[in-house]
Amino acid sequence: IMERSALAERLESLGQLAGGVAHDFNNLLAINLNYLDFVLEQTSDPDARQDLTRARASAERARELTRQLLLFARQEPGDGDVIDLDSVIEDARALLGRTIGGHVELITRPSPQPLAIRADWGRMEQILLNLVINARDAMPDGGTVIIEAAPVELDDDPDRLPPLPAGSYAQLQVSDTGTGMTPEVAARIFEPFFTTKAKQHGTGLGLATVYAIVTESGGDISVTSEPQVGTTFRILLPTVTAGTAPPDDAATQASGSAG
Ligand code: ADP
Repeated sequence: IMERSALAERLESLGQLAGGVAHDFNNLLAINLNYLDFVLEQTSDPDARQDLTRARASAERARELTRQLLLFARQEPGDGDVIDLDSVIEDARALLGRTIGGHVELITRPSPQPLAIRADWGRMEQILLNLVINARDAMPDGGTVIIEAAPVELDDDPDRLPPLPAGSYAQLQVSDTGTGMTPEVAARIFEPFFTTKAKQHGTGLGLATVYAIVTESGGDISVTSEPQVGTTFRILLPTVTAGTAPPDDAATQASGSAG
C-alpha cells in the first residue's frame, strides 16, 4: 500500500517520463504500422499474411499503450472551464452507448440541483469512460452500472479521510454489480501499471489517470468494493459558486492573465 504523497510523487515522475518517451514512440509505431500495412497489401501467401497480421496487432497494442501514456502525461493542473457535471454525464452516456454491451445496463441519476465544477470537459469525460469501461469489464455476465451525481457539504472533521477542506462538493459515484475486488487489489488500483487484466487488455493506467485528474482538480476519490457483489467509486470535486469564481472582467484581461 503506497502512501498518498509517495503515490503523488510517483505519478508526477512517471508523467514526466511518459511525456518524453511516449510521443516519439508513438510516431515510430505509426511508421512501423504503415510499413506493415504496405507489406500486407503486397502479400498473398496466407502464412505470411497471418504473421504480418500478428505483428500488426502487437504494434497496434503498443500504440494504444503509448496513447494512454500520452493522455496520462498531459495532466497539467489547468484552470479548466466552469462546467455542469450532469451535462458531462449525459455526454459520456451518449459516447458509451456503443461501447457498453447489450448485457450491461447503464443508468444515470442526475443531481437534484445543478453542479458547477471547474474542470476540463475532456478530462471529466475521460474519468467517466475509464470508470464505466472498468465496470463493464468487471461484469462479463452482465449487470448494472449506475452513474450518480449529487451535492455534498463537507464540514470541518479532522478525522475524515480524504483530507479535503470544508465546503461544497459535487459527488460523482459510479457503481457496478460486478466481480468486486479483494482488499489487496483495492489498495493498489490507483498505482500506475497495476492491472489484473490480461496483458492485451489492461494497461493499468486508467485509474492512475483518474486519480491524477481528480486530485489535481482539488478533489479526491475513494473506492468501496466487495467481491462478488460490486464496486463503487466515489469522487468529490469542489463546486464553483458565483461568489468564489475568479473575476473574468476587463481588468483581468488587461493584466494579461486571462484568456
Ligand atoms: P486496467 O483497466 O488497464 O487494468 P485500471 O487502472 O483502470 O487499469 O484498473 C486497475 C485494476 O483495478 C483493474 O485491472 C482491476 O483489477 C481493478 N478494477 C478497476 N475497476 C474495477 C471494477 N469496477 N471492478 C472490479 N475491479 C476493478
